[in-house]
Amino acid sequence: MKNILITGGAGFIGSHVVRLFVTKYPHYHIINLDALTYAGNLENLKDIDQSANYSFEKVNLLDVDGLVKVFDKHQISDIIHLAAESHVDRSIESPLDFVYTNIIGTVNLLNVAKAKWAADFSKHLFYHISTDEVYGALGAEGFFTETTPYHPNSPYSASKAASDHFVRAYAETYDIQTVISNCSNNYGPYHFPEKLIPLFINNIIHKKPLPVYGDGLYTRDWLFVKDHATAIDTIFHNGKVNDTYNIGGFNEWKNIDLVKLLCALMDKKLGRAAGESEQLITYVKDRPGHDRRYAIDATKLNKELGWKPSVTFEEGLAQTIDWYLENTEWLNNVTSGNYARYYESMY
Ligand code: NAD
Repeated sequence: MKNILITGGAGFIGSHVVRLFVTKYPHYHIINLDALTYAGNLENLKDIDQSANYSFEKVNLLDVDGLVKVFDKHQISDIIHLAAESHVDRSIESPLDFVYTNIIGTVNLLNVAKAKWAADFSKHLFYHISTDEVYGALGAEGFFTETTPYHPNSPYSASKAASDHFVRAYAETYDIQTVISNCSNNYGPYHFPEKLIPLFINNIIHKKPLPVYGDGLYTRDWLFVKDHATAIDTIFHNGKVNDTYNIGGFNEWKNIDLVKLLCALMDKKLGRAAGESEQLITYVKDRPGHDRRYAIDATKLNKELGWKPSVTFEEGLAQTIDWYLENTEWLNNVTSGNYARYYESMY
């Protein structure tokens, strides 16, 4: 029996990881710890939240006593740590929020795990979820591998890089068993519409401008969120202890090409004339410190653990669009109130 603490389980990726573990492993107890910030939404889990092997704990990573109570109550055996401040634009506005949650919050969790697991570290795993943004920007050629030096350029990626270093350092210094994975951009259902794909789906639905940064030639690798969840499952169960794995979709897109593809797919779904949504594209002032290109080499994960993405980008994008069109209530709920004010301040 494992009692697995999944942090950030009410967020975008975390909710998919919680759902996968709760349904696939009925003999595990999954404890979702989340502070429910603007990005956390228990609606993301309403299809599984009555499951016998699922519990929710509303606790902030900065509340050490709260973390200790959750460990004692549930006898936590392993951790999959996703909770984070995750939006680059917000990190440019308020870097300290990212220092608190992503760095101090991670160290708090490591400290509690270290204290609670000291009797036998070999029985426990601290799995830290991170991003390819820690590697900085690539030129036109090449890929990030697990040995690429860290070179974070935004407050978000700097805070994630620092948290990765702390996890690695705790493994070296205190013998906690850890694993880290660094993943490229995710997309899919339950994605908060401040990020590019859900933001643009929402704006296309409402015929609002599509704000493309700079010249639109920024390049990212995209992975369907359910494939990230299966990669996390694979690494959690079969990854080498104290190792690191890159996760990616082998799927690079320039932003402007992605936006045009999205417009074309949405025009078809919404019964609009071909090219109609493209008229909404508006180039806006570039994001400061914007990394030109990220591309992940996920060969190690594929060769050593046999993981690969299950859907093509076109399939994943079509599923994503369908989900947003079928879940307008979810979208309307998350885009009202604070989101509306945030949106006004950004664009
Ligand atoms: P998200 O913003 O959707 O969710 C983050 C969750 O963490 C939310 O539920 C929020 O309530 C919770 N949280 C935030 N601060 C907290 C705190 N102080 N204490 C407890 N809970 C807190 O993020 P996401 O996109 O699902 O990303 C999850 C993880 O995956 C993050 O660590 C992120 O760095 C990493 N990641 C994301 C992507 C991506 O494309 N979204 C890619 C690679 C890695």
